[in-house]
Amino acid sequence: MKVTEHLEKANGKTLFSFEIIPPQKGQNIQKLYDNIDPLMEFKPPFIDVTTSREEFVYIEKSNGLLERKKTRMRPGTVGICASLKHKYNIDAVPHILCGGFTKEETEYVLVDCHYLGLDNVMALRGDAAKHEPYFKPENEGNHYASDLVKQIKDLNQGKYLHDIVDNSHRSDFCIGVAGYPEKHMESPSMATDLRRLKEKVEAGAHYVVTQMFFDNAKYFEFVEAAKEIGINVPIIPGIKPIAVHRHLNVLPQIFSLNLPDTLVKEVEKCKDSKAVRQVGIEWAIAQSKELKTAGVPVVHYYSMGKSDNIKAIAKEVF
Ligand code: FAD
Repeated sequence: MKVTEHLEKANGKTLFSFEIIPPQKGQNIQKLYDNIDPLMEFKPPFIDVTTSREEFVYIEKSNGLLERKKTRMRPGTVGICASLKHKYNIDAVPHILCGGFTKEETEYVLVDCHYLGLDNVMALRGDAAKHEPYFKPENEGNHYASDLVKQIKDLNQGKYLHDIVDNSHRSDFCIGVAGYPEKHMESPSMATDLRRLKEKVEAGAHYVVTQMFFDNAKYFEFVEAAKEIGINVPIIPGIKPIAVHRHLNVLPQIFSLNLPDTLVKEVEKCKDSKAVRQVGIEWAIAQSKELKTAGVPVVHYYSMGKSDNIKAIAKEVF
């Protein structure tokens, strides 16, 4: 079922959902299930599965020299989505990136998703690869998420890249895109970023999931500003509980966001990681309760591969 259909069916009730990261290649999928199992009692209508950018790894040769190889360390997004659908009878949402993929490769991924009966995809540009100073699309690849949305919408209309296919059978993907309550790091202003978001919706996106934020006021202002410029699709808030001391520096650096001073002071008081994790849980519970009271369609959690804290939050909120 489409994410938007789940929202309609919920009839105003706030739903619980979360995002998982594929394991590093070489690991067993059971670890992933072990983290998902405890969250199933909260009846998520869908689970998002991220896709990672390719990166360089260095392999030591017998002559002592290092060989540089490009690889994707966490492959398997579409396979994991299929396995989640099969195991839990749940909608799984694969994240599809512009970065690192040609449009042709993207078409193959979308065809796989369609054959597997995945009804939703999340269309993202992706960050710059680790070895690049700024984002560079592949030759023959999509540059912005709005271009990717257009490609997916084309497929929904039976338009493949080459006019050689019998297009009597069409996909019908529900398309999610990313939104930034504190502005995307590369955008010159909030107003510009919102205009870009509107372009994604006008290109065919059906819903938005936000970057994490720690101050609900930022989300409420963002939703208002989006409505004012005519963005009328559901905007799902994304929440991440702080889990370790270093998040205080790493999260603002990676995601270009602010942490409220009260939260920072609470974390600074903590003597160990267990205490930090508890502060993160309590902060996320308070955020989630307020969002739920405000009637948000879903609270979507960034689980980052561990579910004990998400479970503790969900128990208090759902
Ligand atoms: P876009 O919407 O393309 O925007 C990127 C930047 O370009 C913005 O600054 C925007 O304002 C600007 N822009 C857009 N269109 C134009 C234009 N026509 N001309 C000039 N500027 C323009 N990353 C991953 O690698 N894997 C994931 O699975 C993943 N999942 C995510 C899930 C969510 C909910 C979110 C919020 C982010 C996720 N990301 C993921 C991170 C995301 O890929 C990065 O934030 C990336 O830098 C931007 O992606 P986007 O889709 O928002 O890009």
